[in-house]
Amino acid sequence: MPPCHDLHTHSTASDGSFSPAELVREASGAGITHLALSDHDTTAGLAEAARAADEAGLHLIPAVEISATWMEKSIHIVGLRIDPSCPELQEGLEALRSTRLWRAEEMGRRLDKHGIPGAFEAASSLTPSGMVTRTHFARVILAHGLAASLSDVFNRYLTHGKPGYVSTRWADLEQVVSWIRQAGGTAVVAHPQRYKLTASWMRRLLGEFKEMGGAALEVVAGSAHAQEVQAAASHARRFGLMASAGSDFHSPEHPWLKLGRLPPLPADLKPVWSLWRE
Ligand code: AMP
Ligand code: MN
Ligand code: MN
Ligand code: MN
Repeated sequence: MPPCHDLHTHSTASDGSFSPAELVREASGAGITHLALSDHDTTAGLAEAARAADEAGLHLIPAVEISATWMEKSIHIVGLRIDPSCPELQEGLEALRSTRLWRAEEMGRRLDKHGIPGAFEAASSLTPSGMVTRTHFARVILAHGLAASLSDVFNRYLTHGKPGYVSTRWADLEQVVSWIRQAGGTAVVAHPQRYKLTASWMRRLLGEFKEMGGAALEVVAGSAHAQEVQAAASHARRFGLMASAGSDFHSPEHPWLKLGRLPPLPADLKPVWSLWRE
């Protein structure tokens, strides 16, 4: 089977809808040979995914998607090939999970005032792992019949300036890169097209990221258009960053975003997996 990489996915350990083992089986069935499970701010799904990967004959890349704040903006950094037993990494993730819980309670209070009672409890009950994300709140609001789709919920309730939005200070970008490196991993700026940065802000971000020891950019991201892939590729060239590819798969509810269906990386870029032996 030709190698097929998907280096950004989620399971029920954060806001995905497949358990880690189900995700691995789906990925294997979709022809993926190298899969990174990168849940938000937790590595709790990795052990189960690794067992399923052994059975399916797929290479599991232990990963995590860490919430960072840079210049008041939320930026997501994927750490690939991390050692989840690294204490500095785990302490950092633990602190982020406390921030997340605080934010979720505050979101619940705000939604309560906005006529959606019990949202925190309902969102928490969707995630036995305790990782409450905006996706869980979105599912609750959707179930109330208050919006037409998940992205409609985000636009009307959960983004900047909307009733359930709570501005949050995540970990400093520099710290996040340092945790990933201490865990032996490779730091990747996830889905660059999502931050709505101008080209000059993007250059500033990537220049600083590279100085901090960041290594790669997610040039092919599941939700990126061809033009956005081209823009990311030229940023990667300019800053000498390696290129990663990840679907950001969460659930089969998003039919446009499938496992194992990513376009190839531009041929002149160095794939982040060229560092790995298998
Ligand atoms: P959080 O880390 O709790 O702020 O949640 C962010 C998550 O919400 C992202 O990882 C996505 O899974 C999801 N998300 C953000 N924006 C949207 C959107 N417009 N439509 C659907 N899901 C979204
Ligand atoms: Mn998510
Ligand atoms: Mn993300
Ligand atoms: Mn993600």
